[in-house]
Amino acid sequence: MDYQRVEDGREYVARLEHGEDWRGQIESFAETEGIDAAFFYGLGAVSDATVLFYDQDDKEYYAERFDEPLEVTTALGNISHLGDGRFAHTHATLSRPDGSMVGGHLDSATVFAGEMYVREFGAHLERERDEVTDLDLWNL
Ligand code: ZN
Repeated sequence: MDYQRVEDGREYVARLEHGEDWRGQIESFAETEGIDAAFFYGLGAVSDATVLFYDQDDKEYYAERFDEPLEVTTALGNISHLGDGRFAHTHATLSRPDGSMVGGHLDSATVFAGEMYVREFGAHLERERDEVTDLDLWNL
C-alpha cells in the first residue's frame, strides 16, 4: 500500500445545475477553485446516466447507459489531476421507481437535482498509468 499524509483543506457545499453533467460540473468547480486533491459525496436525481464497468480480464471499461430518471442514492468520489486536467473519479448507486438499483463508475449523467459536499485536502494528487491494472491510479 502506498500512502501519504494530507493536511486539512477547504470545505464546500454545492448545488449542481439542472440539465448539466454531474461529473463535468465537479471538474469545472475543481478547476475554478484550484482544488488539487479532494473527496466528495452527494445525492440527488438524474434524468439519465452512463456508468462504466472495468473488466479486470480485458482491462477495458464497458459502458451501460440508462436513459431514464434515476435517484442518486449515493455519489462519491475524489478529485485529482489526470493529464492536463482535473478528474472527478465518481462512483454512484442509482435507484429506479421500484427501488431496484443500478450503479458503477459514473461516466456521465444529466443532473435533475444534486447536492454535494466537497472536502479539499492540502495535497497535490496526480494519476498515472499503472502497469498491473492498466488504470490511471494515484502516484503517491
Ligand atoms: Zn471508478
